Amino acid sequence: MCNSKYSSLFSFEITYSPKFNNSPSIEFVSHNLYEMEVIIRALEEDGIISKRKSEEIRKLFIEKEKRVSEILIELGIFGEESFCEWMERRFGFRSIRSIEEVEISLVKLFPKNMLTQFMFIPAKHEGSKIFVASPEPFELPTKKISEISGITNIEVRVCSPNLVKTAIDKAFHELQEGGIEEFTNKIIEEAINKNATDIHIIPSEKESIIKFRIDGRLKNFQKISNLTFQLITNRIKVLSHLDISERRMPQDGRFSFKNYDIRVSVIPTIYGEKTALRILKKSFDFSLQKIGLNENQLKILKESIKKQSGFIFVAGPTGAGKTTTIYSILLEIPRDELNVFSIEDPVEYFVDGINQIQINSEIGLTFPKVLRHVLRQDPDVIFVGELRDFESADIAIKSALTGHLVLTTIHAKDVASAILRFVNLGINPYILISSLSCGISQRLVRKICQNCRGNKCDVCKDGFLGREAVFEVIHFDDKLKEAIKEKGNWTEDEIRKLFRESGYSLLEDEIKKKVKDGITTEEEGKFVF
Ligand SMILES: [Zn+2]
Repeated sequence: MCNSKYSSLFSFEITYSPKFNNSPSIEFVSHNLYEMEVIIRALEEDGIISKRKSEEIRKLFIEKEKRVSEILIELGIFGEESFCEWMERRFGFRSIRSIEEVEISLVKLFPKNMLTQFMFIPAKHEGSKIFVASPEPFELPTKKISEISGITNIEVRVCSPNLVKTAIDKAFHELQEGGIEEFTNKIIEEAINKNATDIHIIPSEKESIIKFRIDGRLKNFQKISNLTFQLITNRIKVLSHLDISERRMPQDGRFSFKNYDIRVSVIPTIYGEKTALRILKKSFDFSLQKIGLNENQLKILKESIKKQSGFIFVAGPTGAGKTTTIYSILLEIPRDELNVFSIEDPVEYFVDGINQIQINSEIGLTFPKVLRHVLRQDPDVIFVGELRDFESADIAIKSALTGHLVLTTIHAKDVASAILRFVNLGINPYILISSLSCGISQRLVRKICQNCRGNKCDVCKDGFLGREAVFEVIHFDDKLKEAIKEKGNWTEDEIRKLFRESGYSLLEDEIKKKVKDGITTEEEGKFVF
């Protein structure tokens, strides 16, 4: 609430105060003083109350912290009906007289404390118009009402103070809910409880739907009315500091929710704005031992990390768990003794002891630019979120050759195809091979539900419960590097053949093992690879 509106009226409060021993709440007085003075002065002008009565009302206002409309009815100056009639006549408002006219479902979508503070109710809506009613409707928070409801056309009406109270009681007693803010929080909490990674709020013609992404798949969570949809969308836009009035252009933002960082993307569709929320844990509690590497893979990776130089990459599609693996590696590094940087877009986890830098291409803070500056900061370890361009890849790989440990992720099928991706970016193949320390590729496969053995039960709904990571980990020792270099004109298959000849089990083989061991199904294995 903007106090500046009332600043010119604070003089009232100052002149009254010395008269009374108990000190009134400045908050209450400053929020309601204007309304009281408008009404009292009009009543005096109309000859309904005397100056002495006015003073009595002012005294009750401050001492009892009661609103003027309540005092007028309490003192018998008006009844509920006659109060509305006088307000209609005197100020030209139309009125809402009975609770039957009020849409309780609309009331409960607003925060209760906002309704009681300003003493109003969103009474009903018709098309693109919302009707708000209040016994003292002079300074209503119309901007906030528009933000919450998504409706800018507001018609203000008068009602009795009792109607506001009855409507609020009815709305919040029935559901014990705190309006749209609490409803939005509940959705996010539910998603977190169900281990969802994303929440989708999808508009459509008749009603809207909320879906969660759990174990990599979308699942229906709840259908909502299009009005509720509008309110939630606006609430999320407010939380993530997006422009409420902008509905034609996509917007991105973020906000904090408990220990989570929520990334928000809003995009206009033909039925309204579709919102996607990504749920990210702020603190990172994975460790290399727990991410699902087999004993041999863990040993290879630990040795590569210990060398503290060279190039380590993790390949895989989006959602394969690459970032989890990278952060598990970063946590393995003695961060007290080493200067560790991460350059990301966006920073996905907050970790103590790492200098984390967020890319911002809008202001020219790009991967190559940050990388060049980081190299002047005496780094030991650099994690570059993703290598997508020649310049960054070139800087990163040359740094790996000059005594730095460089980590990255790359969008590629497996280790062999990642090598060719780097070459296709324009990296000299021989420099690349010389820099390599360890190549990892991975997938997350859904696990067959142990409860029903994949026959679909109440716990899993679709036969799957939880996911497990599958890895391919290749250590580039001098022998392997020489073999690759000697080969010359590479193809993915030739490189894979060299890996197998060196005794490595590849991603494909590891996925087949998971199928054979009954951890996942053949279809799921084929789907992810
Ligand atoms: Zn099951």
